[in-house]
Amino acid sequence: MIYADNAATTRMSDAAIHTMTALMKESWGNPSSLYAHGQNAREVLEKARGDVAAVIGAQPVEIYFTSGGSEADNQAIRSAAAIGAKNGKRHIVSTAFEHHAVLHTLNRLEKEGFEVTLLDVHENGIVTPDQVAAAIREDTCLVTIMYANNEIGTIQPIPEIGEICRKKKVLFHVDAVQAVGHIPVDVERDRIDLLSASAHKFHGPKGVGFLYARKGIRLTNLIEGGAQERGKRAGTENVPGIAAMAEALREAAADMTENAAHLTAMRDLLIAGLKEIPHGALNGDAGHRLPGNVNFCFEGIEGESLLLLLDDKGICASSGSACTSGSLDPSHVLLAIGRVHDVAHGSLRLSIGEEITEKEVEYIIQSVKEVVEYLRGFSPIWRDLMAGKKEFIL
Ligand SMILES: *Cc1c(COP(=O)(O)O)cnc(C)c1O
Repeated sequence: MIYADNAATTRMSDAAIHTMTALMKESWGNPSSLYAHGQNAREVLEKARGDVAAVIGAQPVEIYFTSGGSEADNQAIRSAAAIGAKNGKRHIVSTAFEHHAVLHTLNRLEKEGFEVTLLDVHENGIVTPDQVAAAIREDTCLVTIMYANNEIGTIQPIPEIGEICRKKKVLFHVDAVQAVGHIPVDVERDRIDLLSASAHKFHGPKGVGFLYARKGIRLTNLIEGGAQERGKRAGTENVPGIAAMAEALREAAADMTENAAHLTAMRDLLIAGLKEIPHGALNGDAGHRLPGNVNFCFEGIEGESLLLLLDDKGICASSGSACTSGSLDPSHVLLAIGRVHDVAHGSLRLSIGEEITEKEVEYIIQSVKEVVEYLRGFSPIWRDLMAGKKEFIL
């Protein structure tokens, strides 16, 4: 099997699995308990907090462990909105191609009386700092923009946007779930006030993540209960999962340069090979994208059929995000960068992992070429395109 769906989730690293299972056996106490067995777990927890903080240039007290990226997104946005409302500011700026954890939270806030401006994304999949500057108003309380897009992999000019937000005294939240552990992220350099990350996107376990909140930002609780996480996130901590996340992140940070160089080389080979397929196009900027992300649209085919046939060839890929697959709506991300419905339906995302070899890349290219040609052979849309009854877009 060739696993090329790392944007959906990643395989846990051996070190993370080892950390997790060892702690499950040995340090399963409750960190809130006062006896030594509990306090051992507390030490593990606080060491993990320090390790995670160090990777993103934060202080340990600025890290709050959560159940993952979605929870961190929800809490960050709700907290900034609550702070804004207190000061009479109820306007939020974001983009049309955010993850649903962000977009659906913003929808809720709109129903609660907030006004949301969703910026259009340029066809290269990048939002410009000028767009953000122009959208900020007197009553703006939050700008929330993702570091790297989960479908098309494009990397946003986060430090520049952060600078604008800092100058205009607006809180800046970044969904960095696809970036942390893959490209350098530093909350000081990038002027980030709130940041979300998720362990299972960087070879850690599922169901664990963290929220970074700059010191002095008062968080709103999503979950009420005990005093865990300095009273901001109740519930007995998932110590083995959190420690495994920290281990995975330490590893990812240590190997980042080497991994990114290999992935970028493999990604560019894949892009060059898939570009040979007629009436197809790369989605998103070719350079400003995650090292492991490739996303194409091919005219005259259905992404879902393409996936199933690739699965038969032992290749795990995706079309659009996991959250939208299973529904007939094309990806909101592809629509946001201006792809029309017909074209957006024929999308393929390959998010490759560090272990991939050149031989596997060649096999993927050959397989996609075969499957696209096969599917076009009996596609009514392709027949119309070839007969000139419909115009090619790509
Ligand atoms: C995966 C993902 C999330 C959600 O993270 P979970 O840990 O699965 O809740 C949020 N944002 C982005 C950009 C993602 O890729």
